[in-house]
Amino acid sequence: MSVKPDLEFIKYLKGAGGDTLKKCYQCATCSVMCPLSKDGSPFPRKEMIWSQWGLKENLIADPDVFLCHQCSDCSAYCPRGAKPGDVLGAIRAYAYTHYGWPGPLAKLASTAKGLPLLVGIPAVVIFIMWLLSSLIGVSGVHIPTSEEFASHGYTQFFGTWSFHWYAKNVFFILCFAGGSMAVAILSFFMGVTKLWKGMSENAGIKSNFRPSIVQFVTMFLWPAVVEIVTHKRFKECGNQRNRATGHLPLMFAFIGLAIVTCWSLFKQDVLGLFWSQFHGPLPITDPFKILGNVCAIALLFGIGVLWSNRKKAEQEKGSKGSFYDWFLIWLIAGLGATGLGAEVIRWLNIPTLGYLVYYMHLITIMMLFLYAPYTKMGHLVYRTVAMTFEKYRASSFAKDVLAE
Ligand code: SF4
Ligand code: SF4
Repeated sequence: MSVKPDLEFIKYLKGAGGDTLKKCYQCATCSVMCPLSKDGSPFPRKEMIWSQWGLKENLIADPDVFLCHQCSDCSAYCPRGAKPGDVLGAIRAYAYTHYGWPGPLAKLASTAKGLPLLVGIPAVVIFIMWLLSSLIGVSGVHIPTSEEFASHGYTQFFGTWSFHWYAKNVFFILCFAGGSMAVAILSFFMGVTKLWKGMSENAGIKSNFRPSIVQFVTMFLWPAVVEIVTHKRFKECGNQRNRATGHLPLMFAFIGLAIVTCWSLFKQDVLGLFWSQFHGPLPITDPFKILGNVCAIALLFGIGVLWSNRKKAEQEKGSKGSFYDWFLIWLIAGLGATGLGAEVIRWLNIPTLGYLVYYMHLITIMMLFLYAPYTKMGHLVYRTVAMTFEKYRASSFAKDVLAE
């Protein structure tokens, strides 16, 4: 077999945290120490040699790369200090950009150089929409008086209109949040399709979907989702066991905030059509408001734990932090801080500052949706797909159709 190294890819890996790549001498200690590596398909030793050889196509369609939970157990025991955990992290970051659509946006989200535009795009879009909202409806944009702010909070950020069947504020928020989500969903769909095809080809599986949809969901997808939600594999990590302490509340905070957002939309957009008292901000004693606040605190707690873990790993183990590692941490911290901050400022009734912080909060929401497929957030989908594929690959469905 002739090996065609991708020299650009090797250069990328070295620059993105895999600068110790060459030190690996294939002793396999990392594969033995990795708590998630399986006997039939061990990693990350093979990924280290593929990386040294620059076998990009093999690596970006290797499910094991996505199964890694970046616990750094392997790096801690590597006798050569080759940091395989960082190498796998760099490959994943490359894969998210590679699979991301549209390509220029995915590329922009992959480096710190793109940060001004990454913040600037949503900031400009939302600001223009805020100005445009003045052209429609009864009341356009203005900073509210203390009385208006106390009564409406942020529910008239984009003004009001006389069409009582649908709130103007919700319309504008859905325009940018829904648009961003649509781009992200399309990007994930295209990326997942390519990844599944690549994984199947590498594993020698000729037919992708021999099981029925029901069989696929119940036998492969659902068990993978259960493992993810319960953090079963996270808990197996020895070196950075407390990553689950930060990751778990973070995950439940997102689920809780999604429930609160859905309820708020249902209350305002559906119930509000028939009973006008359902319009307006939720009172502090409302169970969904309480859930939202608890989730915001859990989100800040979780991201605080992950932040300090990453800092500790960089200081103690010489693990190299990359833009890919830090961007999502900064973004989630910004999301939680501006969300809680906007609410506290509403209690204090300071309209101008409140509107400014709320505007920043909307920017972080749009960033989270729009850039999800290209940042570390992408692992939510790509790891789920890899875990599903891992179960599928081991099943009789895949074995029966193995290439000769
Ligand atoms: S990365 Fe380290 S532990 Fe793993 S095979 Fe290479 S030298 Fe051995
Ligand atoms: S970082 Fe952890 S999960 Fe990933 S390969 Fe290393 S030991 Fe395994």
